This record gives sequence, structure tokens and C-alpha cells, in this order.
Amino acid sequence: MPASAARATLTGMKILATLLSVGLWLLAGLFVLSAKHPDAVASGKVLPRLVVAGLLGLGGLVLLIMAFRSGKSAEAGPSPGSVQGQEASGPLAARAIVCPNCGAKADAEAVKIGKDGVMTVTCPYCQAAFFLQEEPKW
Ligand SMILES: [Zn+2]
Repeated sequence: MPASAARATLTGMKILATLLSVGLWLLAGLFVLSAKHPDAVASGKVLPRLVVAGLLGLGGLVLLIMAFRSGKSAEAGPSPGSVQGQEASGPLAARAIVCPNCGAKADAEAVKIGKDGVMTVTCPYCQAAFFLQEEPKW
């Protein structure tokens, strides 16, 4: 299944991001410790080291947030079993023809014009054929 493979990759990314951010935080902790070192205090390197520590900590935090945000958006996406095309928005939604049988949106490609000029639509989801009774909106 490609979807589960993608999800597994995503989980791997999350673990990797978590490990990386933990590594960054450990590094930040080392910089904080080194900032407190008497040598650093004597040579006036306390502030630069604290700044570096802060940046490393911030970097780790951003990494973690980004990893988990991308995970959330991917999980909110359409599941493999869901009907595709239902979430069409904007211009596509305005041209949509709704199937009276199942309520699915049939696209313009499903419309066929017969010899007598009557437009028939075959629902791509439930295969029900129906006539277009009113003027399409496109
Ligand atoms: Zn239908």
C-alpha cells in the first residue's frame, strides 16, 4: 500500500526530527554549561555562548513543530477509502453537477449530449444516469 508506506515514512521523519531536536537541545545544554565555565566568564564569552544555546534550542523546537505539523496535515488528508474529488473547491465546485441518486459530484466529462440535444449525465460513483433538467451553471 503506497499510503501506509508514506505514513511509515512520515513516522520515520517524526522520529528523526525528534532525535535531531533532542540532539540540538543537548548541544544547547552543553553551550549553557560552557557559558558558565570560569574560562568563558573570564574571557567574556558568556553571552555569545548563551545566544548559540538559545538558537540551538529554538532550532530544535522549530524542527519538532514542523515535523508534527506536517504529520497532522497529512493525517487530515483524504483517507485511501474516501471518494476523491469531493473536496474540489473554487471554479470546479461551481461547475459541479450533483447526482440526485447519491449526491456525488459528477464532472463535466460525465455529461453526454444525445442526438436530440438532451444532456444526460452518468454518475461516476453510482453509475446512475440522469437528465440535466436545468441549465448547467458553467
Ligand atoms: Zn450517483
